[in-house]
Amino acid sequence: MMFAELTVGNKKVRIPFVCRMCGECCRKLGKVVFDPRTGRIYIEDLEVEWIEGLERYKYFPHPIKIPCPFLKGNRCEIHDIRPRSCREFPLLTGDLGVDCPALKSFERILKAFKPDKVDIKIVEGEVERIKIPRSFLRIFQSANPTKEEEKTFLKLNTLEKNLNS
Ligand code: SF4
Ligand code: SF4
Repeated sequence: MMFAELTVGNKKVRIPFVCRMCGECCRKLGKVVFDPRTGRIYIEDLEVEWIEGLERYKYFPHPIKIPCPFLKGNRCEIHDIRPRSCREFPLLTGDLGVDCPALKSFERILKAFKPDKVDIKIVEGEVERIKIPRSFLRIFQSANPTKEEEKTFLKLNTLEKNLNS
């Protein structure tokens, strides 16, 4: 899960990055690279060094700005072992010209909070929720999140019981 932990005054709140599964990043930024020194095709930072059947990519410059060969429909065929930069896109890598729709929404929500500090987190598995004032849910909703974003927001944050918050 990828999210930002914001510090707003003396409180914290977590804002999820929720991928829309549109496949645009994988269509525009394939992460398979050809090394002309060895004549082999590598996948960035994976233990797998050579993958049969990808010969057709070897004349492309590095990195290849064409659809990734592992993209099938809008899904990644090697999702569990996808390269680091795929896992970190776009919060740690930058948008790189992809025009990611989920990033636009994420940035709009961040802006609504006017945070003092933003920490990006990438966490595998479940995350323990943090307590937030109820007013933070209203700020979140004012930025027009999708249903999925709101659902994920409530998985990362839990509302304080105090009615005055
Ligand atoms: S472009 Fe953004 S929303 Fe679309 S698949 Fe990539 S990360 Fe997800
Ligand atoms: S390896 Fe998977 S996540 Fe990475 S660019 Fe290719 S299809 Fe997308």
